[in-house]
Amino acid sequence: MQFHVQETMSKGIKAKIDENLDVSALFKDRSDVISSGPLHVSLQVTGNEGSITVEGELTIDWELACSRCLDPVKLHTTIPVFDQFKPASDEDDEETEEVKDDDVIAVTGDRLDLKPYVEEVLQLFMPFAPLCSKDCKGLCQNCGQNLNEQKCGCSTEKIDPRMAVLKDLFKDEQ
Ligand SMILES: [Zn+2]
Ligand SMILES: [Zn+2]
Repeated sequence: MQFHVQETMSKGIKAKIDENLDVSALFKDRSDVISSGPLHVSLQVTGNEGSITVEGELTIDWELACSRCLDPVKLHTTIPVFDQFKPASDEDDEETEEVKDDDVIAVTGDRLDLKPYVEEVLQLFMPFAPLCSKDCKGLCQNCGQNLNEQKCGCSTEKIDPRMAVLKDLFKDEQ
C-alpha cells in the first residue's frame, strides 16, 4: 500500500488495491470492540498532475459492544473513501498555514503509505453508540442486570435530577 509520490504523479500511474488488513491491534485496548476484521481495502489510486486521488471503500465485519447492554452486536460497516493527496510544499510549513486546502491531504516525504491512512479513516468512521436492537432496555443502573433478559427487583421509581433541583429551590420559600 505504498506509493512513490513523484513517480505516481508524473507517470499517471493507476493502481488497484484489493487486500485484507489485520486491524485487531488497533482496537486491542478497547473493551467496546469485541472482535474486528479483517478490514477489506478496495481502493483505486490514480496519479494526476500534482496530486494523487484515492477512492473506493473500506468494509469490515466486526462485533462491537451494545452501548446500552454491552452484548456483542455483529455489524457490517462500509466506509466510502475519496481523498486527494498532494506533496507537502515548503511554504505549507509555517506562514501559509491558514490558506491550506482542507480537502487535500499533504504528504511529507517521497512515499505515500496508505496503511496509516485507512487505519485512521476506519477509527474515525467507527459506528457511534451501536445497539443490539433499537429498543434495547440496557442494564439496570442499580444492580447491573441485563433488562433484556429479565427484570430485576430494583425500584423503578426515579427522581428526575432537574425536578430534584426545583424541589430544593422551593424548599426555602415554604
Ligand atoms: Zn443492547
Ligand atoms: Zn436492578
